Amino acid sequence: MAQAVCVVVRYRKAVTYGVHALLAALETAGVEHELRLGTTPEETAEHILATGAGRVLVLWSFYSPDAEAMAAELATVRSLSGGRGLHIAGGVHATAEPQQVIDAGWDLAGIGEGESTIISLVRALQRDEPLTSVPGLAIRDADGVALRTGPAPQLPLDAFPSFTGRNGPIEITRGCRYTCRFCQTPFMFGGQFRHRSVASVREHVRAMAGRGLRDVRFITPTSLSYGSPGPDPDLGAVEELLAGVKEELPPNGRIFFGSFPSEVRPEHVTPEAMRLLKRYVANDNLIIGAQSGSDRVLAASGRGHDTSPVRDAVRIAAEHGFRPNVDFIFGMPGETEEDQAASLKLAADLADLGARIHTHTFMPLPGTPWRDAEPAFIPLATMTELDRLAQRGDAYGHWRKQAEHAVRLAAAAKAYPRRTPRRRTTG
Ligand code: SF4
Repeated sequence: MAQAVCVVVRYRKAVTYGVHALLAALETAGVEHELRLGTTPEETAEHILATGAGRVLVLWSFYSPDAEAMAAELATVRSLSGGRGLHIAGGVHATAEPQQVIDAGWDLAGIGEGESTIISLVRALQRDEPLTSVPGLAIRDADGVALRTGPAPQLPLDAFPSFTGRNGPIEITRGCRYTCRFCQTPFMFGGQFRHRSVASVREHVRAMAGRGLRDVRFITPTSLSYGSPGPDPDLGAVEELLAGVKEELPPNGRIFFGSFPSEVRPEHVTPEAMRLLKRYVANDNLIIGAQSGSDRVLAASGRGHDTSPVRDAVRIAAEHGFRPNVDFIFGMPGETEEDQAASLKLAADLADLGARIHTHTFMPLPGTPWRDAEPAFIPLATMTELDRLAQRGDAYGHWRKQAEHAVRLAAAAKAYPRRTPRRRTTG
């Protein structure tokens, strides 16, 4: 007879989208489980202690900059709950650095996309089967080494919903065909786009509208790539999506596309694309990825565009009534003072055209080609100029905090040199 499994989630606002997708996968697959959400370490521990007989699986998910803080929380939860529960860390950090995660105290690391893994894991716990049969895991062996099971499959996006019984942005595209060297997306989700079908998106919107929601947002690495396999937008596919969503919404429904929590690539911002968006969307801003004002740095970062489409994109977006929010990253590896001056000049020019600059600091993120790269020094003069832009209301962002994260990530990368993962034959 199957034993009961209680899934306790350390439920944090920063990672709700991914967690909702996992819970939706469990529900869609009809996997019996009790669910409890802990919004604080203390509440998480209370839930663990309150569960009855059976197994307790505690889900954690976090981004690389939060890894240290989450490890401290894990220690608190373990001590408050008397060591009960099997703790698994998932998400992009756990995928990239399973040994770090195991050393930090988690029992398991979830590697890659979690939907198939969570289904197999809960079933294995119910049946008391060895966890080596579960794909997409790193398991601590007797020596503390993270041993990996077989890879979790990357399924079509329609295989699972973005959420069930909840609301949130709908994931319309997973994976990214671009190869920006600072970005974890292609590493985590693969180098090809997988698009959710319009029918599946409509199903999500219909259910949300039925729950009284009128605003729809999307998760995608690059909004105007929807429906396209390659670098060129397929505006017919984008229109089919937006028209389909609009049909499912009530008359006062609103579509947000190309704005938070997603963005558009600069070369995709054309008058034709803007006219299309204007017919359907409610957002008054567009998030555009520029990243640098130096063609040399853009080429080194593998962005796949230079600075010229950035100026055009901002001008075209503004002409069509969108306020452009333009992302810049300072401190990319190899960036010189001249490169930074070029970025500041471009940022100021774009601000004059009506853009707001979203400033970031380069972080050597695990899993990326630049995991071990040295962040470039950001001199006081550059910092002062960024502050000046912010004081004028032309810039915003957490670049100072990210600079602190960058130092910690660089130290962690040095402590854990890249290694070839060891794999156990699955049972
Ligand atoms: S930064 Fe955007 S375009 Fe570049 S790889 Fe990441 S998701 Fe794709």
